[in-house]
Amino acid sequence: MSNLAEGIEPVLPDAKMHLVLPTAPVVGKVVTSKSCMKGKSASFIRHLAVDVSGTPLEGNFLVGQSFGVVPPGVDANGKPHKVRLYSISCPSWGEDGQGKVVSTTPKRVLDERQPQKPSDDPEDHSLFVGVCSNHLCDLRPGDEVMVSGPNGKRFILPVDPSQHDYLFLATGTGIAPFRGMAMELFQHPKGPTTSRVELVMGAPYTTDLLYDDLFTDLAAKHKNFRYHTAISRERRPDGRRGLYVHQYLEEQLDHFGDMLRNPRTLIYVCGLAGMQVGLFHILARHGLDAGYLTIHEEIASIPPADWTAEQIKRRVRQTHRCMLEVY
Ligand SMILES: Cc1cc2nc3c(=O)[nH]c(=O)nc-3n(C[C@H](O)[C@H](O)[C@H](O)COP(=O)(O)OP(=O)(O)OC[C@H]3O[C@@H](n4cnc5c(N)ncnc54)[C@H](O)[C@@H]3O)c2cc1C
Repeated sequence: MSNLAEGIEPVLPDAKMHLVLPTAPVVGKVVTSKSCMKGKSASFIRHLAVDVSGTPLEGNFLVGQSFGVVPPGVDANGKPHKVRLYSISCPSWGEDGQGKVVSTTPKRVLDERQPQKPSDDPEDHSLFVGVCSNHLCDLRPGDEVMVSGPNGKRFILPVDPSQHDYLFLATGTGIAPFRGMAMELFQHPKGPTTSRVELVMGAPYTTDLLYDDLFTDLAAKHKNFRYHTAISRERRPDGRRGLYVHQYLEEQLDHFGDMLRNPRTLIYVCGLAGMQVGLFHILARHGLDAGYLTIHEEIASIPPADWTAEQIKRRVRQTHRCMLEVY
């Protein structure tokens, strides 16, 4: 244990990485593809399970890591498509219990085309279809998919998970690793964890919630697991505006404050790039940042309430007790 004010540093396992390189991907076979959304939505997000048995990935990934997918074909320059990363959404023992089937949570990237660089035609508003996400979402059971990895060594559970309590904060497909982590912690062959685990899932509308049945079920079975939802674009039953994840946390500080002050607690944040900014701000504004954040001296004398988003992005860093995976 380190200095109590800094909290208990997590001891992480040595994650295996890059066993399969994207330049020489291996073939996985799709086992399952199904929607994992709560309702009808403008987004399309699926739960996709891929059999990687017989490849170096078999049995060699950890919950929280990601893996690579190399889409078929070539890009606009005639070069093979680049690899894209997808978070693993199953426990370390896989969907099958033996580490042979890995899963993820791809969201179709679909939009009206918008200029990305000055030379792009500003009048072109034709449909933009993301290459790899749509390739993945189109796949059917039995189809082949080129995979690489595993990737990432920081966004994983500690060697001895019972040493810690967990605050999981997700937006959108950022829920993927928390599906795996919740299963690893509560459906472990050696029995469910006794750690306190709280998950806050952020989504624009209730229908956009992902794996809602699983989390509702785990919360009903385990009193040390709480499942919270922060719905940003719907009014709440009492007419108040919707909340983003960090706003929800701030509104519920009576509930989360003790946990955040507890030296055992680890925070995991996964989802939209930038979602950490609001979190860092409320932690600092409420004096709850000790152990989770380091603040650069350049802004240390400025009251946190006056920090700009830019200052937070550049001058506040997370410690080992605050894991971040944003994209
Ligand atoms: C560690 C990590 C884990 C991830 N986990 C997941 C996951 O679990 N699930 C998931 O769905 N994704 C995940 N991603 C994101 C994923 O890697 C891909 O970036 C995403 O699926 C988009 O890839 P694509 O090939 O479909 O889109 P691309 O074809 O690569 O298109 C996206 C790019 O096109 C441009 N673009 C975007 N919108 C427009 C527009 N309207 N008009 C013109 N150009 C545009 C942008 O430059 C953008 O970067 C993760 C990323 C990382 C780094």
